[in-house]
Amino acid sequence: MNAALSLTPIPDVLPPVAADGTVPGVCIAGRWSAGAGRALTVVNPIDGQALVRVAGGDSDAVDAAVRAAAAAAEGWRNTAPQARGAVLEAIARAVHAQRAALVELQMLASGKPRAEAEMDVNDVVSTFDYYASLCRSGKGLDAVPVELPDAAFVAEVSYQPCGVVGLIVPWNFPMVTTAWKLAPALAAGCTAVLKPSDVTPLAELALLQLILQCGLPAGVVNLVCGGADVGVALTQHAGVAKISFTGSTAAGTSIMRAAANRIQRVTLELGGKSALIVLDDADLDEAVSLAIGGAFFNAGQMCSATSRILVHERLYAEFAQRFVAAAKALRIGDPRDPATTLGPLISRQHRERVQRHVELGRNAAPVLFEGEVSGDGFHMGPVIFGEVPTSATLWREEIFGPVACLRAFATEDEAIRIANDSDYGLVATIAAGDEARAALLADRLQVGTVWINTPQLIFPQTGWGGFKKSGIGRELGPWGLKSFQEVRHTITQQQGNQAP
Ligand code: NAD
Repeated sequence: MNAALSLTPIPDVLPPVAADGTVPGVCIAGRWSAGAGRALTVVNPIDGQALVRVAGGDSDAVDAAVRAAAAAAEGWRNTAPQARGAVLEAIARAVHAQRAALVELQMLASGKPRAEAEMDVNDVVSTFDYYASLCRSGKGLDAVPVELPDAAFVAEVSYQPCGVVGLIVPWNFPMVTTAWKLAPALAAGCTAVLKPSDVTPLAELALLQLILQCGLPAGVVNLVCGGADVGVALTQHAGVAKISFTGSTAAGTSIMRAAANRIQRVTLELGGKSALIVLDDADLDEAVSLAIGGAFFNAGQMCSATSRILVHERLYAEFAQRFVAAAKALRIGDPRDPATTLGPLISRQHRERVQRHVELGRNAAPVLFEGEVSGDGFHMGPVIFGEVPTSATLWREEIFGPVACLRAFATEDEAIRIANDSDYGLVATIAAGDEARAALLADRLQVGTVWINTPQLIFPQTGWGGFKKSGIGRELGPWGLKSFQEVRHTITQQQGNQAP
């Protein structure tokens, strides 16, 4: 039975909503339709009410979407990079023009506090702008000569789009993770089938609705909403040359297994359990501010959460006291209230999962602080554990909620050893007085990004991705473009220099 929909108005950026409140969840060759798959109920995490239903697709819709992308592939790859860049720039402008509505949508459907929702939309704009600029410059797209040791031959290298790509994204940064894939894929000349998370499909529905108005030929971007079954159908489709996936390490493992059968290309952006290292000369207020952002931004639902906080033993007690005070000062509430700094978790089910981790954690380490909440939403107060043993599940597994673990260290070597002692290797943050000393330590960390005295800023120009179980490949920057390209060399023997 369908749950009654709440009366909360939804920003007017979605594809046309049917009279019964259902949104089409399939878009093939520019045409929206109600899919024949599972109906997805999008729930407002602020009050737990059903917001809207999305008519998701099935494996037939995936097949039709891949065929549409394949039909559009030749035309799009032969479009000059500068013309592709003009479309990307138009998308950036269209997103910017609808910024206010998209921010509202992010607050409503993802529970992100306004400042965080604004950062997401800004990030989408700057990502499309960045890849538009690469297209304009031809950098990484135009063929370039290759120097050879023998003048009898000339060679050049060219970069070919890898074909139809499947883009599968999670719920924690829906619009952003889509932009990080779609902008470089389109810049490279690929055509795409996008599979949003079944929890937060509205972000991608709104984004595609805007993109369709930006001069993109029909079939270049297609979309099928649905659950893991739709993702599986996409990864198993013979017409998909590459899967670019962001999500859990467990799903990434399944995707890699499926890809092995066809030596299909994959980029995997997976989980994390990252460290913040507070050195003995760190500014404590700055370190606490980095800890709060690293552990509680997006209610801790971040692959890059620095939820393992390593503090030099000399500062540990003072740091713990100030960190708890700062966590107490977080304003838990409705994300649309400008004072709110900690929004709800994405779903009841996810909050229960996080709470189970907290319950288990009580046997492993003392709770230094636990925030309280009330109301119908999926809010959860911040939880801080102290002196957590490195063997505890709490310390080792990705929790994906507002839960931080503290631990003291005595020497730099110990800090590095503990930070690197993880299955994951996505990011790390170092808080230090002496930045040269921090840079030497950064060099020893097995992670894709290190922030030194810097909040978790990600620029389109800098690569994103992890070591170990945090993934394979890199997004953003020129690496993001390369991940959607095959490399071809052409070697020609010069006239008059034919080999005997
Ligand atoms: P998830 O793995 O459950 O789902 C991600 C997407 O994959 C969804 O669209 C889902 O429907 C689909 N999916 C699930 N199983 C699949 C399968 N076997 N084959 C194909 N598709 C499948 O992840 P989630 O719960 O949506 O997101 C949270 C996870 O994402 C966390 O582990 C987080 O660390 C990770 N994440 C990583 C990054 C990064 O850049 N490294 C960024 C954001 C989130």
